[in-house]
Amino acid sequence: MSEQFDIVVIGAGPAGYHAAIRAAQLGMKVACIDAALGKDGKPALGGTCLRVGCIPSKALLDSSRQFWNMGHLFGDHGISFKDAKIDVGAMVGRKDRIVKQFTGGIATLFKANKVTPYYGFATLHPERLVKVKQHDGSEVELTGTNVIIAAGSDSIELPFAKFDGEAIVDNVGALDFTEVPKRLAVIGAGVIGLELGSVWKRLGAEVTILEALPDFLAVADAEVAKAALKEFRKQGLDIRLGAKVSKSVVTGKGKKKEVVVSYADKDGEQSITVDRLLVAVGRKAASKGLLADGTGVKLDDRGRIEVDEHCHTGVDGVWAVGDCVRGPMLAHKGFEEGIAVAELIAGLPGHVNFDTIPWVIYTEPEIAWVGRTEQQLKEDGVPYRAGSFPFAAIGRAVAMGEPAGFVKVLAHAETDRVLGMHLVGVGVSELVHEGVLTMEFKGSADDLARICHAHPTLSEAIHDAAMAVDKRAIHKAN
Ligand code: NAD
Repeated sequence: MSEQFDIVVIGAGPAGYHAAIRAAQLGMKVACIDAALGKDGKPALGGTCLRVGCIPSKALLDSSRQFWNMGHLFGDHGISFKDAKIDVGAMVGRKDRIVKQFTGGIATLFKANKVTPYYGFATLHPERLVKVKQHDGSEVELTGTNVIIAAGSDSIELPFAKFDGEAIVDNVGALDFTEVPKRLAVIGAGVIGLELGSVWKRLGAEVTILEALPDFLAVADAEVAKAALKEFRKQGLDIRLGAKVSKSVVTGKGKKKEVVVSYADKDGEQSITVDRLLVAVGRKAASKGLLADGTGVKLDDRGRIEVDEHCHTGVDGVWAVGDCVRGPMLAHKGFEEGIAVAELIAGLPGHVNFDTIPWVIYTEPEIAWVGRTEQQLKEDGVPYRAGSFPFAAIGRAVAMGEPAGFVKVLAHAETDRVLGMHLVGVGVSELVHEGVLTMEFKGSADDLARICHAHPTLSEAIHDAAMAVDKRAIHKAN
């Protein structure tokens, strides 16, 4: 006999736990199932984001940034010290404590909202029956009036660079190195490669990033990508573009392992020898083993669950959200989809505006954007005006010793409506939300230009960039 719920959520990552908590707030009886275990072998809620993604990587990015600043920024402030050392074990331990705090926080939130957690692997069967294989080997059966699949995503493994958890790792392994690798190669100059490559570079590793595409960060605005690449190379990140990796060979044992990585670029076949190899070539939907025969739920050619614009699978009462469906693999996109589906099930309006989902890459300088890039506007034939402003002319940024980067505002040439905001520089992960808000409220560059911004703040760069759209920025020649 299966236990009956109003909603059964498969997956307690960002999309799943948001769906579960919002549905419980709306008075529904909710179960949420997750198979993941933490480093201590105990069930850990929160998904990739909390366990091995956004949160732990930010912890390491922050630790490594403090260390880097000691050697690169402190001197300019007149601060000196002797023998800065990094204790990798202590740094990773701090990261683990933060992860535990947040994964435990989801369990507390479930309790407070009366969401029933189940710990094990869930498979969806016809008629919204969900069978859960629990960690002790027992099985429970749940039936939902509605089922929300939020199974997330897994790292893509390359056939010629299989993860061994030692020499060849994915993002999870690269969060737990026990010492700074002398030489680290990264396959893929995407978000994970740049963030984790930066962490270990700042701590002293020689980092080589091999990227197959000829253009750096092709998803970002070209000017932003160019400025970021220049800064990363200045920091010593060896980023090789148009470098397609085809082979890796591991030699030696344990800590003495080395990896010979072979790639082809415009000059022909090349190879480098490193101590650790991080493979960061994207993620795939975690749909394996999720669906029993006869559910009617379809997968697309990339293994993602097919859904319509409301995250409905087309099968009565079955929905899917987050990384396991189309759209960007971003935790906050999953948050919004989870909430929207819970509200739709409750008969409320639920909607996610894909046009205003912000992107952030937490490097130094940070990269962030919302809306269309200049190249996309050109391709779409949209007439636009651009205004940009450098942080080098912003008093606060210079006082902080962080003058790199700029803000660019793109607005429709006739209506002045903001179509995109692109930022590279210190703290832009927070600043980008000014662009998100403006776009959500269908604001114009002139609106932004006429809104009072506190001085001295980093946000003045947005104010001046908005004024520059109309060639009236005060602090630069227009
Ligand atoms: P990605 O898609 O961002 O980048 C992968 C890169 O690997 C691409 O540029 C691709 O051209 C390159 N590549 C693929 N095969 C290659 C080969 N054989 N040789 C050389 N280069 C090769 O993927 P990711 O960095 O692994 O991130 C995965 C997902 O997680 C992304 O969707 C990302 O948005 C998400 N994520 C987001 C954040 C954030 O928002 N800050 C952080 C981490 C991850």
